[in-house]
Amino acid sequence: MSEFDAAKLANAATARLRNYDPGHDLPALRKRFGAQIAELGSNENPLGPSPRALGAMRDALNESFRYPDPRGASLKAALAEHLGAGPERIGLGNGSHELLMLIAQCFADAAHSVVFSQFGFAVFPIATAAAGAQPVCVPALPREHPHAPFGHDLAAMAKAVRADTRIVYLANPNNPTGTWFGDAALADFIARIPRDVLVVVDEAYHEYVDAPGLSTALRFADDYPNLIVTRTFSKAYGLAGLRVGYLVADASVIAVLERLRESFNVNAIALAGAEAALTDREHLARSREFNHSEREWLRGELTSRGYRCLPSLTNFLMLDLAREASDLERHLFERGVIVRPMGGYGLPQTLRISVGSHVENQRLLDALP
Ligand code: PMP
Repeated sequence: MSEFDAAKLANAATARLRNYDPGHDLPALRKRFGAQIAELGSNENPLGPSPRALGAMRDALNESFRYPDPRGASLKAALAEHLGAGPERIGLGNGSHELLMLIAQCFADAAHSVVFSQFGFAVFPIATAAAGAQPVCVPALPREHPHAPFGHDLAAMAKAVRADTRIVYLANPNNPTGTWFGDAALADFIARIPRDVLVVVDEAYHEYVDAPGLSTALRFADDYPNLIVTRTFSKAYGLAGLRVGYLVADASVIAVLERLRESFNVNAIALAGAEAALTDREHLARSREFNHSEREWLRGELTSRGYRCLPSLTNFLMLDLAREASDLERHLFERGVIVRPMGGYGLPQTLRISVGSHVENQRLLDALP
């Protein structure tokens, strides 16, 4: 009798997927290393959430016997004011990850291709595969590129768009490379893309960005209804555990996404916390300033020890070792310093290191061989 194996029953799209690689077992590592751990693997904000968000979440707990508002109207109104875009142009997600997946599920299928960059954010190929669409992975810029090593080659990506392309995913800045492109480059790119192709610009690290020539893709939203911008409360707002992301798009895009979105995808605590976080401008400013000064200090320390750090406008640095990185990752791991190996991304010679608290960053430096 043959053994039951549900893998054989998975639908065609799911059959092509592999389990998400969650990286290290952090709960187990917290037990093993206790207070001595330095968690530098997931690009979280070491300052944590705004105290105002914490207060709002505590209050919301009392109402948690009720279903959340399936429209998320209050958070959408706050975002609309914050962004200067009408609430009908905003969609909410259980993290921006969910929204990136939802876009592909609603707009692409086996008849379509989806374009993204080599070393682009990991969810792009997963979203493509889950929708059963054809991936078009465009080679990244070379390692020697002066501004964006391993970054998106926008010219090549525009050329890669085919008649059957439905979506192009860009991350700006990108994870894991930390690389970015400016407003002018995006303007050139989007002008070359047909209007029936959705251009998704993932701005998960937007709030950390501080560079001349880079603002936000939203400045092009009025001219290009095929543009979708995704953001998150997981990074600079310090709410990764809460799972709230949003996107801004043409109202007709939102209307399509609403057909498949799970009605209560953003829970009541998350709606309250995100809305309060948005009003705490001081906490966001503190987080940005801390990240900037700490990142640049860490970069200086690493560089003076002979490591090559790629340019970054985010809350992480990518180390390019120019040799297999697993030994160093293991060495740090044994000392309780958890960083992200990049072999799964096809970058086995690099490590991604989040900017942690000052104590954590110092622990990293002390643990280096
Ligand atoms: N986009 C990028 C570029 C990211 O790095 C991340 C988080 N690693 C996400 C999207 C998803 O974040 P979340 O689902 O927490 O909003």
